[in-house]
Amino acid sequence: MQIFRSHHELQNHLLSEKEKGYSIGFVPTMGALHQGHISLLDLCNSKCDVSVVSIFVNPLQFNNKEDLAKYPVQHEQDLSLLRQNSCDVVYLPERNDILGNEIENIHLNLGDLDQVLEGKFRPGHFDGVVQIVHRLFKIIQPNIAVFGEKDLQQVAVIKQLQKSFYPDVLVLVAPTKREPNGLAMSSRNMQLSDSGKMKAAAVFDSFLMAKTMFNSLPASKIIDTVTKKIKEHGLEVEYVSIINPETFKDLNKTDKKNMKAYICCAVICEGVRLIDNYCLTDD
Ligand code: AMP
Repeated sequence: MQIFRSHHELQNHLLSEKEKGYSIGFVPTMGALHQGHISLLDLCNSKCDVSVVSIFVNPLQFNNKEDLAKYPVQHEQDLSLLRQNSCDVVYLPERNDILGNEIENIHLNLGDLDQVLEGKFRPGHFDGVVQIVHRLFKIIQPNIAVFGEKDLQQVAVIKQLQKSFYPDVLVLVAPTKREPNGLAMSSRNMQLSDSGKMKAAAVFDSFLMAKTMFNSLPASKIIDTVTKKIKEHGLEVEYVSIINPETFKDLNKTDKKNMKAYICCAVICEGVRLIDNYCLTDD
C-alpha cells in the first residue's frame, strides 16, 4: 500500500498506473474507519485494478466548529485496517494540499436538495461536500467512485456533481453496514458510551416498525410514532421524514403506491449527531 500526502505525487503515480491500462477506483472518507468504509473498499476492489482511499476531515462540510473539533482522528489504525483490506493507495493530505487554491471552487445548483433534511439542518454542508469531492475527482480522475447509502442525500448530491462535471466517472452505491443491534456504523459512534450505542439502536428498531406500518398508515402517523419511540429512548430528534428518494421531498399521497420511499432521520445521542435512513418499500 502506498501513502501519498502530496496530490502532485499521487497524480504522477496514478498516471503511470493508467498508462499500464489499470482502472482506478476511489473511496473518499473522513477516516476513523470502520467496516462500513471497508465494505466500500471491497466493492471498489471488486470493480477496479487500483483502489484509492482518501482520508481527510473536510472542514468545509462542518457547519458547527465544535463538531469538527471532536471528530475522531486515528490515522495509524486507519492505515493498518486499509492495509489488511487490500487497499492499494491512500491519499492523506494536509489541509493545504487539498484546500490550497490551486483547484478552483465550482458552482453546482442543488436546488431543493439543499433545502431539506441535511441541507436544511446543516446550512452549507452540501456545498462543502461538493467542493471537496470535486477537488478529489479532479486530482484522482477515477473510473469508479464508491459512496455509502448511509448518506443517502449525499449520494444524490454526488450524482448531480457527476452528471454536471464528471460524466465519465461511474458512481456506485454500497448498502449501509450495521452493528448486530441495528445501529448504523459511523465514525461518530466512537464518541458514544456503551449505553449510548444501545439507546441509538432504537433508531433502527423504529425504522423496522415503520416498515410494518407503511402500507396501512399515512406517513404523518408513522412519523409521529417513530419520533415518539426514539424520544422514549432518551434521544433528541432533529427530524424524521418519509421521502421520495428521487426528489427528497416528503412523500405525498399520490406518490405512495408506485414510488420508493425512505425514512430518514437525524438524532442527537449523548451530544453526538447521528443520521440514518431505511427503505420502506420492497425493491
Ligand atoms: P465518512 O468517512 O463518514 O465521510 O464516510 C465515507 C463514506 O463511507 C461515505 O460514502 C459514507 O456514506 C460511507 N459510509 C459511512 N458509514 C457507512 C456505513 N455504515 N455503511 C456503508 N457506508 C458507510
